[in-house]
Amino acid sequence: MQGTILVIDGVSTNRILLKVQLAGAYYAVEQAGSVAEAMTAARASRPDLVLTAMSLPDGTAADVKEALNSDEMLAEIPVIAISHSNAPERRLKALSAGIDDVLPQPVDDVILQARIRSLLRARSANEELHMQRDASHGFVLPLSDRTGAAETAKARVALVAQDPQTARNWAKRLGEQVPYDLCCHQLDDIQPLMSEPVADVFVIELNELSAGPGLRLLADLRARAATRQSVVIAVPNPADPHISAEALDRGAHDVLQSGFDVDELALRLTTQLQYKCRNDRLRDSVRNGLRAAVQDPMTGLYNRRYAKPFLDRTAKRAAETDEKFALMLADLDHFKRINDQYGHPAGDAVLIEAARRLQAELRPVDLLARVGGEEFMFVLPGADEIAAGMAAVDLCNAINSKPFQVPGLDTPIEVTISIGAVIGGGKDQAEGSAVAQVAELISAADRALYNAKNAGRNQVTLGSGNTAAA
Ligand code: GH3
Ligand code: MG
Ligand code: MG
Repeated sequence: MQGTILVIDGVSTNRILLKVQLAGAYYAVEQAGSVAEAMTAARASRPDLVLTAMSLPDGTAADVKEALNSDEMLAEIPVIAISHSNAPERRLKALSAGIDDVLPQPVDDVILQARIRSLLRARSANEELHMQRDASHGFVLPLSDRTGAAETAKARVALVAQDPQTARNWAKRLGEQVPYDLCCHQLDDIQPLMSEPVADVFVIELNELSAGPGLRLLADLRARAATRQSVVIAVPNPADPHISAEALDRGAHDVLQSGFDVDELALRLTTQLQYKCRNDRLRDSVRNGLRAAVQDPMTGLYNRRYAKPFLDRTAKRAAETDEKFALMLADLDHFKRINDQYGHPAGDAVLIEAARRLQAELRPVDLLARVGGEEFMFVLPGADEIAAGMAAVDLCNAINSKPFQVPGLDTPIEVTISIGAVIGGGKDQAEGSAVAQVAELISAADRALYNAKNAGRNQVTLGSGNTAAA
């Protein structure tokens, strides 16, 4: 099944007709004859979408929306209302009540199916974001409480029309109603649309002449990384249900099915910008959560959770390309003494400065991770014995060549580091899977580090992946 749709209508024949129409498109259909019945059915079946008549025996579509909103589990369900009248006032009233779309009776099947698909798509993308956010729970920073209105006020809206006069005309009329930064574009000059900063919303006119290029632009905007998170609103001008349906299927977030209407566009723009704003914040929160999960907060370096898969990937790629790579484990020398002598906060300051100095020695492709209290891992893709040896000596020198200036301490602290390095990959690498070799490489690097410590610290030992000692 594609999803469950709750059909609400006081007239049973209407419900049955819709049920047949929807079942033909493989939706599971639940039915209700009133607002009250609808709430019982919604709580029981948690539909993916609600399709309701505008007028019901005990209320209106707006009452359905309000009742759904009052239940946290049902508040996000999209609602389409079906209205006997196509009067703009009724449609605007319903849209401002939070209903996602209003379709006139008799319902055009093409547009109904396209609208359902687009709302279900948006809903599942939204659920996915929530799931990702919940999955990274524990690392997530709280969502900011900034109000949507203040954030969306600065939004950039691009009005794209077949001829420049239409776009200017729309901008003039829309500018009287919304606070957004409006800019006009011609459909056959879309290059500026793709350059930074990209618009938050694209409003695209689709008429007989512009439908082809307009729909292509729409699909393009939805596919490109730079504009993928922008909102696209299609304006068939004049109204055309088939162009509307096509626009929705190509990924338009919203369509003005009755053609350009400045009040309706202002309303839909505001609603869509609020959704975008909420989704942007959700996406930021997921990104921050993911970053926090792989980052050491004190030094800003990656942690072991990130380093191990990075090392596995490097080993796998090296096996495929016959390239070598270096793995190094490093440990600050007598670090306990630094803590004992100068205090834990001074120890922290040394760790932070050490991380900064080590990172500064590396190429962008290299990895530095903090894998223990005062222990670090380096992965240098493409490095052979000579390159790794030179890099390791540079890393040692970066620490020992200049004493560490710690805030609050008069005398700088002398710090040294020991490094064990091994080489993986290459043509004559050992048998077995790349990942199995990684475990052996880590042990070998650890032994090499142990040998560097034993040999007097503040030095590099190059170990072999296949032998017990360096
Ligand atoms: P070695 O040269 O053999 O490595 O001696 P060491 O003193 O560095 O090694 P040891 O493992 O005995 O001590 C490491 C110390 O690092 C002990 C621990 O308290 C300290 N340490 C671990 N994490 C942190 C941290 O985040 N901040 C501070 N200030 N100290 C830490
Ligand atoms: Mg240690
Ligand atoms: Mg140590």
